Amino acid sequence: MTEQQLRARGIRDQAVLDAFLKIRRHEFVESALAAQAYSDRALPIGHGQTISQPYMVGIMTQTLEPRPSDRVLEIGTGSGYQAAILSELVHTVFTVERLAPLAKRAQEVYARLEITNVLQHVGDGSLGWKTYAPYDGIIVTAAAPRVPPSLVDQLADGGRLVVPTGSRGGQILSIITREGDRFHERTDVPCVFVPLVGEEGWKGD
Ligand code: SAM
Repeated sequence: MTEQQLRARGIRDQAVLDAFLKIRRHEFVESALAAQAYSDRALPIGHGQTISQPYMVGIMTQTLEPRPSDRVLEIGTGSGYQAAILSELVHTVFTVERLAPLAKRAQEVYARLEITNVLQHVGDGSLGWKTYAPYDGIIVTAAAPRVPPSLVDQLADGGRLVVPTGSRGGQILSIITREGDRFHERTDVPCVFVPLVGEEGWKGD
């Protein structure tokens, strides 16, 4: 997976590749799907949600430019895989999930894998997580109709926000960087994510 799906497609940050080697994707899917855990696609995790395609996790992680001292906010804990990858690369990961059963299951996986630098919250992540703001990086693993203003507000100076934006059927990865009071936006690869459901996301599943 790491060689063929990630390195061959442009994921070259060695720290990111090492995180993929350390954090095993099969730990984050039901045992019935373990044989498909390293396939090149998203997989169901229940409640109509998915664990993202490994390449998408790779490109979003690399685009975030994670640094060891960073405090990073993830919106959309899902299986917990993306947050676990980030936990290898940054100081602290703050992750928000709207569906309590998914958050609970991810918490159990962190305990089993002895991951101790991920803090979880159940709620509407389209509004961010003000308590611990600002963040050096914010990564949204669900599709937003537009960049949520609350997330932009919670970016630290020099911070990076990575968020899929577009229609429900298809999005593009948007990257916002903050320099003082100035914000720069660029776009990257096309992608397809489940909707970000919330006040600054889509209204209803
Ligand atoms: N990062 C996840 C992983 O590694 O498995 C995959 C995330 S899945 C594609 C998207 C997740 O976003 C779902 O678990 C969904 O419930 C969650 N979600 C959708 N809207 C949300 C919101 N407003 N706040 C927090 N989580 C939300």
